[in-house]
Amino acid sequence: MPAQRVKTALRRAGLTRRHAAAIRMCCERTALSVAGERRPARSRILCYHSVGTASWGVNDVAPARFRSQIETAIRAGYHFVPAELIASDEDSDERRLAITFDDGLASVATNAAPVLEEMGIPWTLAVVTDWADGLHEFGDGVMLDWRAIERLAETGANIASHSVSHPDFGRIDEQKAEAELFESRFTIASRIGITPSAFAIPLGQTKNWNTAAQESAERAGYLTVYAQTEDRRHPGTVARTFVTRFDSPRIFRSALAGVFDHWEEWV
Ligand SMILES: [Zn+2]
Repeated sequence: MPAQRVKTALRRAGLTRRHAAAIRMCCERTALSVAGERRPARSRILCYHSVGTASWGVNDVAPARFRSQIETAIRAGYHFVPAELIASDEDSDERRLAITFDDGLASVATNAAPVLEEMGIPWTLAVVTDWADGLHEFGDGVMLDWRAIERLAETGANIASHSVSHPDFGRIDEQKAEAELFESRFTIASRIGITPSAFAIPLGQTKNWNTAAQESAERAGYLTVYAQTEDRRHPGTVARTFVTRFDSPRIFRSALAGVFDHWEEWV
């Protein structure tokens, strides 16, 4: 069916583009979890976003599911380490996992941090500095502010940059990219006294990054740049395994087995 007719049909059925994308993502992840290629166990850096913020859509993971995923991983023989440790030793085939959260959502402090603290698991939070400054339209209480981020850092969270305004680096010019990389690092240092050594690419797909941005990130002082899939990431970046709202226990176990190492979240 031509794309325009598909769009019209979806509109008539009351489905927005976002709904349609979510349905497609769910179908893709379910199908791959059944039929996708399994790879040998290796270290992985997991990427989460919110834990109990329904408005975050496909990237929100329910609190009970978050806990059960960690328990699943531990039962499968994985142990948790800081993300930088895996980033600096990517070829390791040990069963190590690291946990990162992008965007800086308040539900991470409410629903994930207590679980991680209880289990003694290190983790990384990549923040968007404008959003932590309150410059967003997500509503009250959705994003972490600097005080909350500072408290998380004091209790052990490693703080990384996720840019100033969460742009698509594939669509901005080099000057703007440089500003996003340098200024976010400087702002985090000035707000909470921590100079981040890692940068998580907003959106994270191959098309959202390029060689110029990578070089700029290195000039800005970042030692690690977190991307998305193992197979498609740009040279110099570090792969992460994304976890989505649709990840049932079977899909999560498949993600640990590398089934999504070629798959990119495209929403
Ligand atoms: Zn993000």
